[in-house]
Amino acid sequence: MNKDEIIQFLTADGEEQQMLYETARGVRDKQFPEGVCIRGVVEVCNLCLCNCDYCPMRRDNLKNNSLFTLNEEGILGAVEQMTDCGIRTVFLQGGENPANTRVAGGAIRKIRSMYRDEVNIILNLGVKTAAEYAYLYEQGANGYILKFETSDPINHERLRHEALDKRIEAIQLLLETGYEVGTGMIIGLPGQTIDSIADDILLAKSLKVHMCSVSPFLPAAHTPLERYSSGSIDLSLNAISIMRILHPEWLIPSVSALEKIRIGGQIAGLNAGANVITVNYTPKQESGKYHIYGENRFVVTLGHALQTIAGAGLQAAADLRKPAAGPNAISKETNHESIPS
Ligand code: SF4
Repeated sequence: MNKDEIIQFLTADGEEQQMLYETARGVRDKQFPEGVCIRGVVEVCNLCLCNCDYCPMRRDNLKNNSLFTLNEEGILGAVEQMTDCGIRTVFLQGGENPANTRVAGGAIRKIRSMYRDEVNIILNLGVKTAAEYAYLYEQGANGYILKFETSDPINHERLRHEALDKRIEAIQLLLETGYEVGTGMIIGLPGQTIDSIADDILLAKSLKVHMCSVSPFLPAAHTPLERYSSGSIDLSLNAISIMRILHPEWLIPSVSALEKIRIGGQIAGLNAGANVITVNYTPKQESGKYHIYGENRFVVTLGHALQTIAGAGLQAAADLRKPAAGPNAISKETNHESIPS
């Protein structure tokens, strides 16, 4: 698919759009017959020293946010709930700050031992030094997500107040270190064009990453972009389908921002070819302080994830990367985020 074709499919609607989704689903189902991977995320720290204009956790909002850092006990307690549910992809996420290297690093070996090594540990802790990436890898993390958000260097610098190259270089460093790397883009940022979204897809392809997300922009209170409109769901879904067709092997999440904009948005993401859902295991008290999409973000529970997967006519799978030691399936008997029976 060349750039002109990507642009054409990004704007597809009606019958053409349905055919795009159907093709993407077929590609996914052939590549991942096991079903949809459920990840469990723990948000370890909400201090971020970046200043992205779309994010309420930005540096200029520090005075408005109630800061927290989970201790090791808090992280391991959350992960214990995942083990009980059969989830074997543990995702540790936090704002970009140097301190969270030790916060996450200290827990990683213990998480590996809780799972007897049958686990994927993915991090999303922002840009770090080569030594920090190597340290976290040596502790046992095997995946890292670092989103470039927009490939337009001018818009990137305008909205994130740093050069696009800083993130690109960090992604390359992560790949060189040995991580499976995920990146991602936001759809609907002010100043973004269809041409630029096509470039986002092509940039992700050229980076040779293993995972990529598409999130519709959500305007959040107390940010410079609070008065802008949300990103388009259709454009986001079309981008998911295009990425699936271009990269059958990628893990592509159906993100909570889709559900925030439209009830059933995450089913639509799966129907467009996504194959991952992330369930939130951050302790409730801290989860309410993690304002990544604003104070009223949609927090995904295990019950919601399972209903969404079933609603798309798919199966929940613990892990799509490695053969499982035990049955590669997650219990369906739950209606909330607590441990299924
Ligand atoms: S989007 Fe991420 S890097 Fe940017 S301010 Fe928010 S938490 Fe920090």
